[in-house]
Amino acid sequence: MTPRDLLLSEVDLIAALAREFGPPPPEVVVGIGDDCAAIAQEGGQCLLWTVDTLVEGVHFDLAYMSLEQLGWKSLAVNVSDVAAMGGQPKQALLSLGWPPARDKVLALEFARGLARAGRDFGVTVIGGDTVAAPGGLTVTITLTGVVAAAAMVRRAGAGVGDLIYVTGCLGEAAAGLEILRRGLKPDPSVSAPLIEAHLAPRPQVRAGRLLAEAGLATAMIDLSDGVATDLDHICRASGVAAHLPAASVPVSPLVVAAAPLLQRDPLKLALNGGEDYQLLFTTSRERTGSLETAFARAQLPPPRRLGEIVAGQGVWLLRGEEKFEISGQGFDHFRLDRSTEQI
Ligand SMILES: [Mg+2]
Repeated sequence: MTPRDLLLSEVDLIAALAREFGPPPPEVVVGIGDDCAAIAQEGGQCLLWTVDTLVEGVHFDLAYMSLEQLGWKSLAVNVSDVAAMGGQPKQALLSLGWPPARDKVLALEFARGLARAGRDFGVTVIGGDTVAAPGGLTVTITLTGVVAAAAMVRRAGAGVGDLIYVTGCLGEAAAGLEILRRGLKPDPSVSAPLIEAHLAPRPQVRAGRLLAEAGLATAMIDLSDGVATDLDHICRASGVAAHLPAASVPVSPLVVAAAPLLQRDPLKLALNGGEDYQLLFTTSRERTGSLETAFARAQLPPPRRLGEIVAGQGVWLLRGEEKFEISGQGFDHFRLDRSTEQI
């Protein structure tokens, strides 16, 4: 293989970078390859540490998103990574790349949204950096969080026979993005919540903490790039495969309602579309009763069962007697498209 072949996908690039950096020191409980890094602290706690970058033209378009909305979402997507480890988000650093030609006063609109997200999620912005970015606005946020070491949930840990769940319906953010991108005008009762799902995702911090503290999840990830890609991360980290019966996929009824106008298969939006920012997790089969009771007691929406962990490799969609591999068909930043493979 040539170096170029090695760097074809995001997964391959991260693996190659990790090899360059070498293994982490012993106090690092989780290094490269999870939603957050985790560093052991005194008193049985772990410090969680994550970073995310949003780039104008790749992750957002200010033609259909305000700077205040961007500020809010920039923190929310980081909070979702802390939620995916079962943690509580704490402090953030911001690096803001601002186009020199754009009025700097507008940066305050961005800051207003970021500060509002901070209040919503209990996060304080405590420092950062500003830099000129002639190529377009870029936002990088570093976020810390805390979790009890014994409760922390990783991507590795899914076992054969475990059941796969998601904390909510799928495909809404992807459908909302399609509506915004293409300037479509469906019935507002359908389009407004879909657009909201794209612009203002709700990271599932309470659900993540509940799953971790009650020991209900064997593996967990947040859905940023789509089930097809994010579940594949769990499968690779855990050395297992996933079976998803097509009829079990919890496609949002709003996505089904918008599908004729979008001319998109709702199942594909649910499996390949990104940015749902729900939590995808696995639970051992004997804990499913406790899982449902715990969510009901916490007044959280019931988790939706998506499929089952099996021996093997990859994420497979089951339709009747046939099965189709869908691993990695979600968003990949180094392909910059969403797969249109037949499923
Ligand atoms: Mg993540």
